[in-house]
Amino acid sequence: PHLLDSALSKADSTNSMRRRAARKSYSADELHRGIQNGELVNHYQPKLSIRNRRVTGVETLVRWQHPLDGLVYPDQFIPEAEAHGLIDALTGAVLVQAFTDAAIWRAAGLDLSVAINVSMDNLTSLDFPDFVSEQARLKGVNPASIVLEVTETQLMKDLRMPLEILTRLRLRRFRLSIDDFGTGHSSLAQLRDLPFDELKIDRSFVHGAHHNETLRAIVQASLGLAKELGMETVAEGVEESEDFDFLKSTCCDVAQGYLFAKPMAASQVEAWVRAYS
Ligand code: C2E
Ligand code: MG
Ligand code: MG
Ligand code: MG
Repeated sequence: PHLLDSALSKADSTNSMRRRAARKSYSADELHRGIQNGELVNHYQPKLSIRNRRVTGVETLVRWQHPLDGLVYPDQFIPEAEAHGLIDALTGAVLVQAFTDAAIWRAAGLDLSVAINVSMDNLTSLDFPDFVSEQARLKGVNPASIVLEVTETQLMKDLRMPLEILTRLRLRRFRLSIDDFGTGHSSLAQLRDLPFDELKIDRSFVHGAHHNETLRAIVQASLGLAKELGMETVAEGVEESEDFDFLKSTCCDVAQGYLFAKPMAASQVEAWVRAYS
């Protein structure tokens, strides 16, 4: 029992550290300086095929290695970046790092897709698809191995320009994913018209689904819809093996969550993938 106690108090102190840090807000100037100084670091979380448990790819999750505050999580600076016109610089830095790492893993013989979170505010100019294609070309990265994730809550804005940009990216063979599905209000018409390849079910529906009939119904219905629309399906936030067992009984393709791995530094990915497979 004391083992559990110490695990719990460790989790507690981690949480309260995160809460304390969460109260801090950063100025646009400070964030700008951090981006310019190369203080953004990509971490990567593995995604696994539910059918055979093989690693199919990784999701890029950015952290800010702050000179005084240590590792800062994206919830604390992405909104500021979006509000202060820094999101293009931020996404650009994350993407260049992710493509560089993707090329390194490919050269090492790993076959991994690499997902990158993109803000709706990135989808306002036709420069964006050109930038993404050019970077892929420079790094020798195959667009079909790159997934661009956009959260469903951001899809409710005016969609004309974003739709044009997403369509151009898809014509260049990049893959597109709707993130945190179930937390927004995208209409069936939007799902029909948007060129998405993948749907990620939000972790608030996945976590605890094994003992909650309502969550299971929502997950099943979302998966069914995605399948009917020809999309790949991913469940995020898989923490418990019982939730994974439930997912195995559905048509869900891929799982991601702490049950398998937390986000890790780029330097750890190759060893993790080799040890896991
Ligand atoms: P997201 O894209 O939905 O990413 C999943 C988040 O859930 C990550 O949090 C990840 O660490 C966490 N997570 C993964 N598995 C589990 C699990 O089993 N249990 C729990 N409780 N959590 C899990 P993180 O890294 O703090 O990122 C939060 C959000 O910040 C991301 O949510 C994404 O929307 C945004 N974000 C991260 N990196 C970027 C980026 O480079 N650009 C943009 N625009 N947004 C980013
Ligand atoms: Mg994501
Ligand atoms: Mg998500
Ligand atoms: Mg999220």
